[in-house]
Amino acid sequence: MSDCLFCKIIEKKIPAKIEYEDPEFLAFYDIHPQAPSHLLIIPKKHIEQIGDLQDVDETLIGRLILRAKQIAKKNSWKDYRLVFNSGLEAGQTVFHIHLHLLSGRKMDWPPG
Ligand code: 5GP
Ligand code: ZN
Repeated sequence: MSDCLFCKIIEKKIPAKIEYEDPEFLAFYDIHPQAPSHLLIIPKKHIEQIGDLQDVDETLIGRLILRAKQIAKKNSWKDYRLVFNSGLEAGQTVFHIHLHLLSGRKMDWPPG
């Protein structure tokens, strides 16, 4: 997707502080962190939002969550929050699926 910000980060056309990369996923630090540690973990496959997932994406999205767990473990982040925003009203601003991984502070529930 040529006009997708996160596809451009994947293609290294826009810089980001990359924490992890493999052939399927990329993890980089959020530019406006909401916690002391705030990563975005994305599939390299361009899917706009969780609501667009198909059955064929079942293992991809499972592996994405496992990557989040592995990255948290590697950084010794014991407690963390994982968030997907799907759609404008849910707060999604970038329409390429991304899993927020937030850690390093006490978090309230429900979120504001
Ligand atoms: P959303 O609101 O769609 O769930 O999350 C999008 C996230 O992308 C936001 O937390 C925002 O701060 C982050 N973001 C937006 N533009 C950039 C950018 O150019 N680089 C990085 N690293 N993060 C970005
Ligand atoms: Zn994209």
